[in-house]
Amino acid sequence: MSVMWTVRVVGVGLVALSLSVELLGWLRRRLRPGRILNEVIFFPSEMACVEHIFAPSSPYSCVCPLSHGVETSFSRLLRHILSASSSLDLCVFAFSNMNLSRAVLALHSRGVTIRALVDKDYAAINGSQTGVLRKAGICVRYDVGSVYMHHKFAIVDGRLLVTGSLNWTLNAVQSNLENIMVTEEPELLQPFIKEFHRLWLRNNPALHLRSKDQKPGKN
Ligand code: ZN
Repeated sequence: MSVMWTVRVVGVGLVALSLSVELLGWLRRRLRPGRILNEVIFFPSEMACVEHIFAPSSPYSCVCPLSHGVETSFSRLLRHILSASSSLDLCVFAFSNMNLSRAVLALHSRGVTIRALVDKDYAAINGSQTGVLRKAGICVRYDVGSVYMHHKFAIVDGRLLVTGSLNWTLNAVQSNLENIMVTEEPELLQPFIKEFHRLWLRNNPALHLRSKDQKPGKN
């Protein structure tokens, strides 16, 4: 074999080797038992009772007229939110959904640290749950920027990101065409954690009380 051929064969061999190493890594990531969660959920959600999600120990006790034991888009969202064991960071434009409010209150009573950031204009609207959350002792901040704080995302335990078009309202859940993406991908999660942190600090009411140029925050 000529030297040229040897170089070519070795070259092809090296490319094949690096490709198979990449492929093996990819396969390992896809197939490993605890592989990270990625899920897309579409709305509107089918209407069904969610009592069993709040009280899993007595799943058949509810007698409401809705269908029972049905897994829906909304029940999946609720389960993801209720999976929080240490923290829940919320950044939602509109929060008026009673069941999501109930889920957040349940987490709070379990000792999960909740931080909720909402748009200040929406918070003043009838049906907003932010007053209820604050009364329960949950830390709520209002975005005081001059434009809408139009995000709709939640970070569960700094591990799981829920984001998409869905506001936390009854209409969004039951009537609208909406989407959410639920992911544990660190590359997607990290920028949201950073953005939440930035917005949370920016809307610290203590800062705005000190500043003469800005109106005091409502918190
Ligand atoms: Zn029921």
